[in-house]
Amino acid sequence: GPRVRFGPSPTGFLHLGGLRTALYNYIFAKKHQGTFILRVEDTDQSRVVPGAAEGIEDMLEWAGIPPDESPRRGGSFGPYQQSQRLDLYRRASEVLLERGVAYRCFCTPQRLELLKKEALRSQQTPRYDNRCRHLTPTEVAEKLSQGLEWVVRFRLEKGVEPFQDLVYGWNKHEVAEVEGDPVILKGDGFPTYHLANVVDDHYMGISHVLRGTEWLTSTSKHLLLYRAFGWDPPQFCHLPLLLNKDGGKLSKRQGDIFLERFAQDGYLPEALLDIITNCGSGFAEKQMGRTLEELISQFEVGRITPHSAFLDLEKLPEFNRIHLTHHIENEGLRQKLIRELQLLVEHVYGDQQVDQDVLEKEYMERVLLMRKGHISFLKNLVSCDYSYLWVRPLVSRKQLQTISAEVDEIGKLVLGLMTRQAAVLTVEELNKDLKSLHNQTKETKYSSMMQLLRLALSGKQHGPSIAEMMVTLGPKEVCGRIRKALS
Ligand code: GLU
Repeated sequence: GPRVRFGPSPTGFLHLGGLRTALYNYIFAKKHQGTFILRVEDTDQSRVVPGAAEGIEDMLEWAGIPPDESPRRGGSFGPYQQSQRLDLYRRASEVLLERGVAYRCFCTPQRLELLKKEALRSQQTPRYDNRCRHLTPTEVAEKLSQGLEWVVRFRLEKGVEPFQDLVYGWNKHEVAEVEGDPVILKGDGFPTYHLANVVDDHYMGISHVLRGTEWLTSTSKHLLLYRAFGWDPPQFCHLPLLLNKDGGKLSKRQGDIFLERFAQDGYLPEALLDIITNCGSGFAEKQMGRTLEELISQFEVGRITPHSAFLDLEKLPEFNRIHLTHHIENEGLRQKLIRELQLLVEHVYGDQQVDQDVLEKEYMERVLLMRKGHISFLKNLVSCDYSYLWVRPLVSRKQLQTISAEVDEIGKLVLGLMTRQAAVLTVEELNKDLKSLHNQTKETKYSSMMQLLRLALSGKQHGPSIAEMMVTLGPKEVCGRIRKALS
């Protein structure tokens, strides 16, 4: 099967843009029984953030799209971290030097800076003037013996290197004129992106390169490198931009697009995968609530269009609501939610004498099944609106009496109903029972009776239906609360 890779630079947290690139790679691999590789591109040591590479791999695992080969998992094409492959790049650059398609450049940083300044002054794009291309072997030997510092540059020949991108079609970029010959190996022995990328994609057996469209124009350069090495290039598939809904760049400033942040805020990874694929292309149609499996089965590379994807993060809670419902409906995932909810309840209500019963699995399960579809986040269930689920409300008889004078009568009727009905508590049954119970009252309106029961059971004026509350709390707790309110 195909081999694809996600090649982030470990310069910070994984954000939605990175997740999207990784996801398309993952989906492509799984669709075609291929292999998904995580390769850490840490050749620019000045930008490396300690721990970032591990964090990125953690987040891929959290998102449910773990790599098959990676720094952590290993694999037979490793190491998977560019800083551990320096020998390979050095040998590759020597091959190019020997073939005369690369050369040593001794230009000092000062000279390069000067070139840049001059170009900017005459309002031109800075460009290396390829001076060291023309050094004779004797001149090179002399400079080397003087111990001068050098880098390796790749000789870009004039002309275009057309290639067919799976998304963008035919591409023709004139590369030589633009920046001058690019550095491929730096003075510190580290390669630059272009060399490392090509060497790794080759030696790691990468068959398809799915990456952001910002690399489209570099691809011609990469193809020239492949040709210089005599290697077959992979297929290229550049992914259109991911923008925010106004068409601007996704902002990392507030940290609001980092995965860690979404995880902390209670988002499910499925909701993130769903929203970042729904705003883009590659799938049969747009449809909220898709699972990863469905994404894989609906994906077709040919369906990716070059149109930018516009991400509307305001819709994310709705995506989360749908996926939280899926989780609640799934037996195994529900057990996980129960454990999470137990922790949340203990954390939020722990010092308010949580009745031990509420932490029981059966109770938690009832709460989840009753509230599914109504909540976007698990943590909603520990908010003030739902406090009655975990702690008994403080309600006085006096308060109840302001709603109806028949407080005692209604209370007794409900207590009676609960003892008779304990075995079969369903919302439908209870709704019928409450209607007929109301017929036995004299002067209280149905809506007032409901208001009264709501207050007695929850201490609130709004919330789920009375029948739902009664089913959730269970007969014992309902009776306890009614008796307490009447006492
Ligand atoms: N290290 C590059 C990045 O951070 C990878 C580009 C590529 O996939 O070729 O985006």
